[in-house]
Amino acid sequence: MFEIFLERFRQKTRTVAFPASLPALPPRFRGRPFIDADRCAAAGGCCSCVAACPWHAISFENTKPALDMGMCIFCGECACACPQRALVFTTDWRLASTDRDALVVRPAAYASPRQPGGQGAGLRASSGLADDDDERLYVLPELPITSVTSLAAAFARSFRLRQVTAAGCGACEADLNVLGTVVYDMGRFGIDFVASPRHADAIALTGPAPRNMRAALLDCYAAMPAPKVIIAVGACAISGGMFRRVAPPAPDSIQGAPPQCRPALFIPGCPPHPCTTLDAFLRFLDQRTPR
Ligand code: SF4
Repeated sequence: MFEIFLERFRQKTRTVAFPASLPALPPRFRGRPFIDADRCAAAGGCCSCVAACPWHAISFENTKPALDMGMCIFCGECACACPQRALVFTTDWRLASTDRDALVVRPAAYASPRQPGGQGAGLRASSGLADDDDERLYVLPELPITSVTSLAAAFARSFRLRQVTAAGCGACEADLNVLGTVVYDMGRFGIDFVASPRHADAIALTGPAPRNMRAALLDCYAAMPAPKVIIAVGACAISGGMFRRVAPPAPDSIQGAPPQCRPALFIPGCPPHPCTTLDAFLRFLDQRTPR
């Protein structure tokens, strides 16, 4: 017994200090993408990234690339293919938004925190290449998360989630589980998972929700009391991810959450990092997290 106490004392607190301080993720972590408009224009919109994306997450809009984070699995193939290194993945893990359109990344002017007027510490980026020598620092505007004030007040310090795995591979589910461990300890914010949708404030949906899982999902949705919040966790729940079939109205088209349960919050990733998910939950509940 004494040895156990001694060991616990030696290990000290294992729970991350987030949100009081920001977590340090590895420099090669692939977070929010950035497309440098000047560099991309220099290549004349070469389309290499569009062709390289295995899941068609990048399309061309007016001869410029547009990367949809709601479809992206963050494999980095596009960044490797970009001859100008215009497309990079920064280490910004804040990817969530309540605005589906805000997940589409379009070319933007590069702004360094070292330039006059530059703000923040700046984020590193990885192009995905082994000889990566990108020393630039990126400053990205915060993605919008609209916290419904009445919702935040109603759920203050008590937000219960029912997790629905709609044919997910297990990765998003595993990283949601991690939020309940001693390291992230989501319960300290009053957020927890419950077994029954009747006790849930929201559904955390993972997986592409194919035809065979639709009925179960809709049953769960019907059993949940108002206001029936859906949170789409991962590329599959947002868009169908790599299981997506872009041929509606085909009866088996797989495009994530069905129209009957439109998500209020989108958390991109494959799977989303636990910090991404926890940050999204806290901001959705109007609890500010540091920038
Ligand atoms: S982001 Fe890179 S690969 Fe994509 S169109 Fe621009 S220059 Fe070409």
